[in-house]
Amino acid sequence: MNMIEIIRKKRDKENLSRQEIEYFIKEYTRGNIPEEQAAAFIMATYINGMNEEETKCLTLAMAHSGDILDLSALGNVVDKHSTGGVGDKVTLILVPIVSALGIPVAKMSGRALGYTGGTIDKLESIPGYRVDLTEEEFKAQVQKIGISLIGQTCNLAPADKKLYALRDVIACTESIPLISSSIMSKKIAAGASSIVLEITCGNGAFMKTKEEAICLAKNMQKIGELCQKKVVAVITNMEEPLGYSVGNICEVIEANKALKEGNMAEDLKQVVIILGAYMLRLAGKGENIQKNRQRIEETIYSGKAYQKWLEWIEEQGGDISYLENPNLWKEAKYQEDICSLKDGFIAKIEARSVGEVVANLGAGRQKKEDNIDKEAGVIFYKKVADEVKQGEKIVSIYTNKKEAIEDAKKQLQKAIKIEENRPKKLSTILDVIE
Ligand code: URA
Repeated sequence: MNMIEIIRKKRDKENLSRQEIEYFIKEYTRGNIPEEQAAAFIMATYINGMNEEETKCLTLAMAHSGDILDLSALGNVVDKHSTGGVGDKVTLILVPIVSALGIPVAKMSGRALGYTGGTIDKLESIPGYRVDLTEEEFKAQVQKIGISLIGQTCNLAPADKKLYALRDVIACTESIPLISSSIMSKKIAAGASSIVLEITCGNGAFMKTKEEAICLAKNMQKIGELCQKKVVAVITNMEEPLGYSVGNICEVIEANKALKEGNMAEDLKQVVIILGAYMLRLAGKGENIQKNRQRIEETIYSGKAYQKWLEWIEEQGGDISYLENPNLWKEAKYQEDICSLKDGFIAKIEARSVGEVVANLGAGRQKKEDNIDKEAGVIFYKKVADEVKQGEKIVSIYTNKKEAIEDAKKQLQKAIKIEENRPKKLSTILDVIE
């Protein structure tokens, strides 16, 4: 096999054979293909796409680039994954809820990608939290307390770990074959029997339209069928950031508050509840989605989900005193507020711009090896359709990079639109593809 010829074929819109795709994945994972060739191949795929057969071969090759976990001893494990968004802290809230309801959670999550945040970066904001358990530790923890969430640190889908980090820094995130293979390879390797996907859609998501989101959902469902995994996809709106905060520490604090007090933004709550309701159904814990929704809410309000959150974080090495007392987190050195220049209603908060601002404040990577700043972020006090008075605070900016503040303010001022009349509230749940 010749890597240059494989790149040329993709560049010239020719289809690749299974052997060619497997060769690329195997040799890239082993370190035998240089980054410039991998980048060229991924860019050609991003531009010219892949057909169904190629996407399936890519996914399976990536899933088999490392170990495949056998979780059959744990019963019916249901996984959840999001295609990524701005302010999307759903996993942090949802997985302790479903675990408290008796569904084993054995989940592998990712880091920030492009202008979207990553669950692993968020969890690493909790001092001591170990994202890098060995496979044995991971399984043992799920067996012991019913929940564990790790990064791609053990030998599970190592090809995705490399490709994910590469795509992040070469602007190759918004691609149906690349997203399908990235997510489904991890899900296959992590061993769950069924999966609920949150497919975000809108300016702050990789899928900009509902049609694209449905196409991605169907693509992943087909891959799931091939591997005997049931996949349900919930299409959610990502026109404005989800919830109130965007960043790492600030999103953990928001998720912690949601679990502790049952207090969360309406859009965030809707996503948590619907995904949870379908997870219960797929786990065989209740066919009726309405009743499942009630059980999810009861688990939050009874405090059981919060107890499971503390148990999970502590078991995985995290210092839960930060969750019990969020004031322990150090604040970023610089804070600036943006206040409304007039009376009116919030008509728009453009999620993508907010994601880019937060990345530039220090929460995103420009190069693969960059460390991110966990303290950088923004906290909104308003959501779309809320009323605002002149001089009222709309958003606070947190950063340790003084030089980033002026640009952040300018960009946020452009991203937020205020109008005289109250706009229609955006729907959060756009569709469910079963
Ligand atoms: N989440 C993933 O794991 N991979 C992607 O490509 C996008 C979101």
